[in-house]
Amino acid sequence: MQVFAILPAAGLGTRMAGPQPKQFLALEGVPILVHSLRAFDAVKGMTAMYVAVRQTEIKRVTSQVAEYGFANRVQVVEGGDNRQESVAHALNALPASEDDVVLVHDAVRPLIDTATIERTIHAVLEHGAAIVGLPAVDTIKQVERTAHGALVTATIPREFIVQAQTPQGFRYGLLRKAFAEATADGFVGTDEASVVERAGMQVAVVPGSQVNLKITQPGDLELAEFYLHHQRAAH
Ligand code: C5P
Repeated sequence: MQVFAILPAAGLGTRMAGPQPKQFLALEGVPILVHSLRAFDAVKGMTAMYVAVRQTEIKRVTSQVAEYGFANRVQVVEGGDNRQESVAHALNALPASEDDVVLVHDAVRPLIDTATIERTIHAVLEHGAAIVGLPAVDTIKQVERTAHGALVTATIPREFIVQAQTPQGFRYGLLRKAFAEATADGFVGTDEASVVERAGMQVAVVPGSQVNLKITQPGDLELAEFYLHHQRAAH
């Protein structure tokens, strides 16, 4: 059995309001994308990693990947107009068979740990599909957006809620089938699990951590540096 990781990194990172897409910013002097690649590279049995980037970044990322010693382990492919398309491009490039495992991980979650990735792989072997999810600690409200701001329409019991993180893992055949159905129906989801769920497949949840944050807005980088510093100090 082979295990592949896909890292979509073709976003523009507009919420970060900086001159560079966030996935190329440095965290303790190392590009965010490279932190993510290192965590996957350390997983036992990892066959190869595929990074999807914008066409204009292919050259730069390919040399960065070589600079950090991943030239033989990482393929750089062209991304698409949304995350789902970026993942679809990488999926098309995988030399995988039906039962192989494919993990998809946001390139902008550099603090993912190898043990959580391995737990996700085990859950995929058992259930066919699994995501990392963080139990909700806040009370969750459903709202209606109006011209005067948001109005609460319901309170959703938080025991029914987890926040979807990544990695999200699937048997290759199952993910291909779900993606093909989504493309045929014109469905675009914000994560891979939503594509698989709508195809009627069950998705298991592996416990996540707030440390596995998604670097999205200003301030997140400082928070990630804080966590990284503490992880180092603990070892
Ligand atoms: O925009 P969002 O924060 O959901 O992005 C999650 C991940 O998907 C990021 O790593 C981003 O680079 C990637 N992405 C992509 N192709 C796009 C849009 C986002 O690979 N067209």
